[in-house]
Amino acid sequence: MPLSPLRVLFVASECVPFIKTGGLGDVVGALPLALSALGHDVRVVIPRYRAVKHIAAEKLPAPFAVPMGPDGRYAAVYRSFVEDTVPVYLIEHDVFFDRDGLYGDDRGDFSDNLLRFAFLSRAALALGDYLDWPIDLLHLHDWQAALTSVFASTLTSAPPTVLSIHNLGYQGRFAAAAAVDLGIEPGAMGASGVLQGKFINVLRGGLVSADALTTVSPSYAKEVKTEAGGAGLHDALSTRSVTGILNGIDEARWDPKTDVNLVQNYDANDLRGKAACKLALQRESGLPERADVPLLGLVSRFAEQKGIDLFIETMDELADEDVQFVVLGSGESSAEEQLAQRAAERDAVACTVGFNEPLSHRIEAGCDLFIMPSRYEPCGLNQLYSQRYGTLPIVRAVGGLRDTVTDGVDGFRFDELSSEALTAAIRRAVTLFHTGPEAFHSMVQTAMSKPMGWDVAAREYETLYRQILRQKA
Ligand code: ADP
Repeated sequence: MPLSPLRVLFVASECVPFIKTGGLGDVVGALPLALSALGHDVRVVIPRYRAVKHIAAEKLPAPFAVPMGPDGRYAAVYRSFVEDTVPVYLIEHDVFFDRDGLYGDDRGDFSDNLLRFAFLSRAALALGDYLDWPIDLLHLHDWQAALTSVFASTLTSAPPTVLSIHNLGYQGRFAAAAAVDLGIEPGAMGASGVLQGKFINVLRGGLVSADALTTVSPSYAKEVKTEAGGAGLHDALSTRSVTGILNGIDEARWDPKTDVNLVQNYDANDLRGKAACKLALQRESGLPERADVPLLGLVSRFAEQKGIDLFIETMDELADEDVQFVVLGSGESSAEEQLAQRAAERDAVACTVGFNEPLSHRIEAGCDLFIMPSRYEPCGLNQLYSQRYGTLPIVRAVGGLRDTVTDGVDGFRFDELSSEALTAAIRRAVTLFHTGPEAFHSMVQTAMSKPMGWDVAAREYETLYRQILRQKA
């Protein structure tokens, strides 16, 4: 007998093409499409931030009562779609979401983030009844959605929950006193795992209370259980099974053959378009237009996690060598300043501070090599985009980078967390670029022909969903 399709609600703070600050948004925009292709009814709920209000969406007529806090709150629900296929519900509650910034502003994280994402999480639990759509399973993403399983554990009936960890470094930690606003009974708080000493730790609550846990690569699934990789939560994780499912990429959105952001399209059989993209990127970035110089790219949050400090040291170590750097990103102000300063001082360095999706595509296409010296990396998407665009990634062998890049085959890997190790890996790649163009070209072709769509991961999630539903039954 064929198994029945599942009704799954994704709960998240980001979803491409509506809103994205990093890989989370890419995943939440793409995985539901792949699950829909397997026949499931997958929908997504995110906040209706100010930044998404301009996107066409239909306002559902009935007001939406969210039972959070002593008196409950009302929201409006808007419906839109990812690629006319996956319904996306945008929860409007202006007090929480009609402001500039997603998680914070120049002054830091918003002080009411606990309430804002508790509201999203509580709304997710009420959405099935509101829509008259019986949900089989809730798939929660990162700390912003993790309270859904904490709330679910206090209700007499709620769908099973899967919590996916996209980054254990962001946990949602707040003073314990803030808990009174959530309307969770103090007695239930301890059992849910959400209390950690004097703090509420939202992600910890999810790790303890969700029915199943996943993370976005097999290596990271092992690393999070260790003291070194557990970001203070390895105790909560050590007794639980964590399934590592490697992210895919949206092969339609990231395809050098059709990408509208490029001056010329190309594929593995004909790389002339890539050469044109390189010259165009050099021109756009104010770098000398030269085909013969290796062009090295970096697109990243400027954060310690990403090894941005090592990258800057390496730029200095290579200052006298004939290589060019093109950098895009934002984050820690000291890194922004140091990179901008190097771009101002050196002809061979270009840096754009900010978030620029089209430019990120042009960097993936126009560079020869792409750099990711991460301290830890749950999966990483840029190395996959790079491979697909024929730009060989140079990565630290950690987390998902270890799982997706094979040294000398489809990229370059180094182990040690140091600028010397990164510099040595870049030198190796640059030497091959100059002295072994055929071998370099063959690596490019291998990287470009790797299958990396979402279909494999979607089947693994489907298997996990069914396993949880069987256990709960
Ligand atoms: P993380 O989610 O930890 O930031 P990932 O590699 O998983 O890292 O995903 C990052 C995503 O965000 C990629 O799609 C990348 O291209 C994109 N990105 C990061 N910084 C920028 C930026 N400044 N401009 C445009 N896209 C960016």
